[in-house]
Amino acid sequence: MSDQIEDTIRKFALQNAVFFKGKANPKAVVGKILGGCPELRPRAAEVTPLIESIVEEVNAMGLEAQTKALQEIDSSMLVKEKKERKYELPELQDVDGKVVMRIAPGPSGPLHIGHTRVSVLNDEYVKRYGGDLVLRFEDTNPEKIDPDAYDMIPEDLDWLGVRCNRTYIQSDRFEMYYDCTRKLLEMGKAYVCTCDADHWRNLKEQRQACPCHDLPVEEQLDRYDRFLAGEYEEGKAVVVVKTDLNHPNPAVRDFVALRLVSHPHPRTGDRYVAYPMMNLSVAIDDHEMGMTHVIRGKDHLNNTLRQEYVFDYFGWKKPVYYHYGLVNIPDTVLKTSLIKQSIRDGEYTGWDDVRTGTVRAMERRGIRPEAIRRYWVEAGMKAVDIQFSWENLFGMNRDIIDDASNRYFFVHDPVRYDIDGVDVIEGSAPKHPDHPERGSRVYRLEDPRTVFLSGEDSKAFAEAKSVRLKDLCNIDYALPARYAGNDVSVLKHGVRAVQWVGRDSVEAELLMPDGAVWKGLAEKDLASEAADMVQLERVGFARIEGREPGKVSMVFAHR
Ligand code: GLU
Repeated sequence: MSDQIEDTIRKFALQNAVFFKGKANPKAVVGKILGGCPELRPRAAEVTPLIESIVEEVNAMGLEAQTKALQEIDSSMLVKEKKERKYELPELQDVDGKVVMRIAPGPSGPLHIGHTRVSVLNDEYVKRYGGDLVLRFEDTNPEKIDPDAYDMIPEDLDWLGVRCNRTYIQSDRFEMYYDCTRKLLEMGKAYVCTCDADHWRNLKEQRQACPCHDLPVEEQLDRYDRFLAGEYEEGKAVVVVKTDLNHPNPAVRDFVALRLVSHPHPRTGDRYVAYPMMNLSVAIDDHEMGMTHVIRGKDHLNNTLRQEYVFDYFGWKKPVYYHYGLVNIPDTVLKTSLIKQSIRDGEYTGWDDVRTGTVRAMERRGIRPEAIRRYWVEAGMKAVDIQFSWENLFGMNRDIIDDASNRYFFVHDPVRYDIDGVDVIEGSAPKHPDHPERGSRVYRLEDPRTVFLSGEDSKAFAEAKSVRLKDLCNIDYALPARYAGNDVSVLKHGVRAVQWVGRDSVEAELLMPDGAVWKGLAEKDLASEAADMVQLERVGFARIEGREPGKVSMVFAHR
C-alpha cells in the first residue's frame, strides 16, 4: 500500500489521539478514513489492519509527542471544527410579493417562553419575504387584562429581536366589529340569541336550531340595537354567527360572536357592554389588516374553521393558515394569573422571578434571544406535539455565550483552610482557555496561605484526604492543610480538582433557578469583569446582575 495512504492514516490517527487525551480509537479512525476516502472502501479488509497497527503506534507516543507530530504535519487539524448545523423554516405557500403576518397576544401579562414560538416564527418569515409584522393586542376579555402588559409585551418582543412595524389594539376597534356584525345580521348569517346557554348548546349537539335562529331580520336588528344599548343583562343574550348545524364537528356549529360584559375595561371603562369573542374580532381584523399568512397553534384549529365562515360570508380572501403542534413546557410556571398572584403575595419578586418561564426571567438568567430563536426555528412548524427541552435550549445558549464568558472561581458556603509546608504558592489560570489574549488570573498566596473551598468540596476533602486546588496546587487534609506539590497527574488517580478562592476574594451571591440565593466568595477579578456573562468553573454559567464595591450578585443560567 502506498506511503501516501499510510500518511493519511497517521494524520487522522494523530488527530483522534490528540482530541481524546492521547488515545485514538481504531474504530473511529477506520470510520473517518473510509468515510473520507470512498476509493478505499472496496479495500476495507486490507486497510483496516493497517489502520489498527498505525493507531497502536500512535497511541504509544503520548499526548505531547502526538500533538507535536500533528502540528508538523498539519497544524489546522489541531482545531476541532465546529459543526455548523443550519436549520431553515420551510417556504410559505402562496407568497405573492410581500407578506403580512401577526402576533396577537392577550395583554394579561408579559410574554413567556411559550409565546416566543409564534413570535419568532412570524418574525422569521416577515424578515425572509419582506412585508409587515403586526402586533395586535387582543384585549376583549376585560377581566383578564393587566394594563402594564401593553408596555411589557412590546419590550419583550423588542428584546427577542421581533420587529413589529404596525400595532393595533382591539379595544379601539369595537365600532367596526359592531358594524360587521350588523351586516352579518342583515345577511341572515347571524342571530341574537336569548336562549339559556346550556339549552342552546344541547340543541346544537343534536344539530337543531334554537327558536332565535330563524327570527326575521327586522327582529334580529331590533334585538341587536337593544343588545348594544345594554338593555339585556349580562349572560341573557349573545350574538351568534350561523355556520352549519350539520357540521360533523359540534364545536364548529354556530359560534358566539358578541357577549355582554359588565366588568369595566382598563382602557375604555364602561363605554361598551358588548364584547366581541375572538372568532369574530380575529376574523375581521385578519381581513382588515390584510393578513396573507396566519401561523398559530393546533389548539386554534376549530377557531380557524369558525373564522373561515366569516371570511366566506363577506367574500373575503382567506389567509393561508398554518397550525403547529402543541408544546409542553415542563418544570416552570407559565400561567400568568398564577405568577401575578404570587407577585401580589410577595412570593415572587416580580415578572422576572427566575422561577417563572417569562421572557423577562430568561433575559435575567442570561438566556440569549438568539438561542430562543434558534430553538423555535429548529422546532419549525410541524403539526406533531412536542416536549420542550430546557437542556436543548441551554445547549444552544451555551454555544452562543461560551466564547464571551470568562472563567472564574465561585465558592458557595465557604470553608477556610490554611496551608502549611510551603512558603509561597503561585499559580495562574487563563480567563478563557481559547483566548490567551484576554489575560490570566494570577495567584500568589503567602503566609498563612489561606484558601476557601465550598462547603460541599470541604466535606469531600475531609473524606478523600487530598484535593487539587485547580490551577494552584495539591493539598492533603489536616488542620492546617498540608501542601502536596503541584503534580497534575494526581487527577488520574482519582483526586478531584476543585475551585477555590484566596483571602483577596469578593463576596458573591448566586441566585439559583429554584429561587435560593447561594452566598459565597468569588475571586477578585470577577468584580472587574466587563462582560455580563461568566462561567463559574464547576458551577455553571451566570449573568452578573449587580456590582457593589467588594460584592457581586449573579443569576445562574445553566451548566
Ligand atoms: N389571542 C389569540 C392567542 O394568543 C390569538 C391567536 C390567533 O388568532 O392565532 O391565542
